[in-house]
Amino acid sequence: MQVSLDENSHMYNGSSKLIYWNNSPDTLREVFFHLYFNAFRPGSEMDVRSRTIIDPDTRIGDRIAKLSPEEMGRLTMGVFTQDGKPATMEHMGTVLKVTLAKPLLPNKSTTFNYTFNGQVPIQIRRSGRNNSEGVAYSMAQWYPKLAEYDLRGWHADPYVGREFFGVWGDFDVTLELDSAFTVASTGVLQNPSAIGHGYSLGSKPLKRPAGEKLKWHFKAEDVHDFAWVADKTYIHTTEQVPDGPLLHFFRKDDPDTKEVWDQLPGYMVRCFQYMNAHFGTYPWPQFSFAQGGDGGMEYPMLTLILGKRRLGGVVGTSVHESIHSWYYGALASNEGQYPWMDEGFTEYAGSCVMQELFPKPDEDPHASSITGYRSMVNSGKHEPASIHADHFKTNKAYSNTAYSFGEMFVYQLGAVVGEKNVEQGLVRYFETCKFKHPGPVDFERVMEKQSGLELDWYFNEWINTTRTLDMGIRSVMGVNGGIRIELERIGDQLMPVDLRLVLRDGRILDHHIPLSLSLGSKNDGSEHFEFSLLPVWQWTNPTYSLDLPVPFSELRAVSIDPLQRTADMDLLNNMVEFPEGAEGFAKP
Ligand SMILES: [Zn+2]
Repeated sequence: MQVSLDENSHMYNGSSKLIYWNNSPDTLREVFFHLYFNAFRPGSEMDVRSRTIIDPDTRIGDRIAKLSPEEMGRLTMGVFTQDGKPATMEHMGTVLKVTLAKPLLPNKSTTFNYTFNGQVPIQIRRSGRNNSEGVAYSMAQWYPKLAEYDLRGWHADPYVGREFFGVWGDFDVTLELDSAFTVASTGVLQNPSAIGHGYSLGSKPLKRPAGEKLKWHFKAEDVHDFAWVADKTYIHTTEQVPDGPLLHFFRKDDPDTKEVWDQLPGYMVRCFQYMNAHFGTYPWPQFSFAQGGDGGMEYPMLTLILGKRRLGGVVGTSVHESIHSWYYGALASNEGQYPWMDEGFTEYAGSCVMQELFPKPDEDPHASSITGYRSMVNSGKHEPASIHADHFKTNKAYSNTAYSFGEMFVYQLGAVVGEKNVEQGLVRYFETCKFKHPGPVDFERVMEKQSGLELDWYFNEWINTTRTLDMGIRSVMGVNGGIRIELERIGDQLMPVDLRLVLRDGRILDHHIPLSLSLGSKNDGSEHFEFSLLPVWQWTNPTYSLDLPVPFSELRAVSIDPLQRTADMDLLNNMVEFPEGAEGFAKP
């Protein structure tokens, strides 16, 4: 792809040669491209959605409706040929349909040659020019991007708001723009000695004067998108992760950002080291953190983040966005269909990394995911996690599902299969599914193999329904010199149960009640704590009763889910305490 940008008109022209392999068993007669910049035009699907949803993203609101012709975005395909023959095109807003000149058979390749031209919109969402901190060009979702074809056919989703799904490819991109701009990009710069700008230690200067044109040549292998950002006042530094990628940092030359950004490289080296050790090895040679965009957004080998924030904000955003490299970048699930598999898993790992960088020993780093999930349920806006990201009725339901539910879903799995199985299973998931676009069933299969348990019930009901969990203690009585405990399932959602007895002498006796549907239990040392295994809870039974040989007079308290790892909606019925002389407890 060869592209030149004119900073006076904010227009760009490109030409591209794309070699496309049909790895599907189907004969393809058409292909689809995304033309994302057409979302930034009055009347677009993104514009209308933002003006009609009840809780619009404040970054968009009605701003698209008010754009002047010079401020709008545009992306238009020019001439398109397939193996030298012209193909028919149909522009449909943010989607382009190309009817092929000749069908593309399975396991064959074809070559597309095409030109395109576009106008960079003022920054509305994610990409655009002149963002709120004055970064000149945030160039994300900017070129005609081939849509993904898989088992369910084409995924040419229009650009309404939510995120991305793409085709694996090797990119070779030349960007031509004024020599005063410093560029951060997906990929590895191929001509650093001709560029300077902090990419080369040779004779070329950090800053170049305006007025000439420079051609930046980048290559990126095994990525599903290509983004870049350019500004004339960037300060560019690098930091090497030992046994890992080279990190690049780009911030505008501004005393307001210096103190925080000077500390960022040290934290990010530790983030990459922790991720490599605990979640799988980062697979590309570099990663760039660039001030740009409108908050934080992930791209292959690049993130655009707002820079004028306090240390915790910049580090927290940088941790989250760089961890997307593992989930959005390398695993690359369909984010429209399964947004929780990207944001939720990224949040899960991010909570572990933040606990490593800013330890709070008394705090469970994942607890907020359960709080966020409960807040959505209690708001009445809860929808199944299986809904497409653009089709949630509210932005709240989307974001609580993608971020909070997703993290909770992984964390809560620890209560089912054991914490060590989750830790090891996440590495196994990364290693077996990277570069394969996994869906929920792929994660389920990895976790079933890791734990030896059946998990269909967990993946079916928690992902596809809005049923909620509420387990409760129904009664605790002294019987025949021991105690009898009766539990009940009040909510419709299923879970195995952790049961804790606290004795008057301070001893803690932990027990686990497996769910019959799992056909086994986390009984293999896969927890970080000891427990006694109790008979299974047959899932069709709404109650569960057991006798334990502990004198009632020695019992101080009984609780279920004592570590609070499940999304139980009512905690009040999870614990009973007995003052001296108490005779038992029965639910009124
Ligand atoms: Zn994210």
